[in-house]
Amino acid sequence: MKHRVFSGARPTGKQHLGNYLGAIQNYVNLQEEYECIYCIVDVHALTTLEDTGGLQKNIYDMMLDWLSAGLDPRKSILFVQSHVPEVMELHTLLSMVTPLGWLLRVPTFKEKAKLQPQNINYGLVGYPVLMTADIVLYKAKVVPVGEDQLPHLELAREIARRFNNLFGNTFPEPEAKLTSFPLILGLDGKEKMSKQLGNDIELALSDEETIERVMTAVTDPARRYRNDLGHPEICNIYKLQEYFNPLKSSGIAEECRTAKIGCVECKMLLAQEINFTLKPFRERRATLANKPKYIAEVLADGAERARVIARETLREVKQKMGLT
Ligand code: SF4
Repeated sequence: MKHRVFSGARPTGKQHLGNYLGAIQNYVNLQEEYECIYCIVDVHALTTLEDTGGLQKNIYDMMLDWLSAGLDPRKSILFVQSHVPEVMELHTLLSMVTPLGWLLRVPTFKEKAKLQPQNINYGLVGYPVLMTADIVLYKAKVVPVGEDQLPHLELAREIARRFNNLFGNTFPEPEAKLTSFPLILGLDGKEKMSKQLGNDIELALSDEETIERVMTAVTDPARRYRNDLGHPEICNIYKLQEYFNPLKSSGIAEECRTAKIGCVECKMLLAQEINFTLKPFRERRATLANKPKYIAEVLADGAERARVIARETLREVKQKMGLT
C-alpha cells in the first residue's frame, strides 16, 4: 500500500520559479510513489488577508499552474481547503487538546504579529492547529516541506501525539520529506523569491518577458566591470544555472572566475534555458486556459474524494472523544 502524502500551499496566484523548484516539481515526482493529496489552503490565507477580492482568481491561477506543471487529477487529489468543511470541525476539536503555550511560542506567530499589529487575529495563533488538522484529517504519513516549515511540522506531530495519548491511537505522526532544492533567492539576490517582494520570475511569462526579468537580476557585486573576475559561488544567477543548465554550469563558473564571460551573456544563456525548460509547461497552460470549466471540475472532484476520507476520520475522532 502506498503511503499518503499531504501538502498545502496558500493561494498566491500565478506561480514563480521558486514555487516550481522548491515545491511543485517535488509534488509532481511524488505522485508516482505516493498517494498524494494537494490542497490550496484558502482559509489559512485569511489570517493575513484583509481584502479577499482576489482570492478566487488566485486559486484559479495557482491550480492552472499546478496542472500545467504536471499535477495529475487522476493520480492525486487536488482541492481547495474550504471545500472540505470537515477540516474546520477537526481544527476545533484539536484546539481542545493543544496547550496555548505551545502556540504562543511559535516564532512565526511572533513575526506575523509584528508585521500586522493592526490584525493580530485568533487565526494567526491557531494556524498550527489548523495545519495539523489539514494533515491528520487525511492520516497523511509524509509531508513535503522546506526547512523553514520544520518547526510547524514538529508541532503538528506533538499535537497528533497528544491526541493519541489522550484518546487512543488515531493519527500517524506525519514525517517531513525535505525538498532537495529548498531555497531559491529572488532577483535581488538577498531574499527568498516571493511575489510579495516583487523579486520573482513567473512561470507563465512569455520568452521575451523572461529574458527581461532575468536581465534585472543582481549578480556578484564584485563584478562591476566586464573584466572584473567573478565569484559564481555567491551569484544568484549561477545557482539557477546549476539547475537549468547543469551540463554547462561548471564551464560557466570557470569562465566567470576568469572573466571570459560577462554577466549579460551569462544571463541570456540562463533565460534561454529557462524558456526551453518551461516550453511544455507554457504550451499546456495555454491549452488549459482555453477550458475555464476544467479547473472548477478538477477542484469539485478533488473535494468530493477528499471528503470521503475526511468524513471517516472525523467520525472516528468524535467517537473516541465521546461526542457520539
Ligand atoms: S558571469 Fe554569471 S555567474 Fe558570473 S557573476 Fe555574472 S551572472 Fe554571476
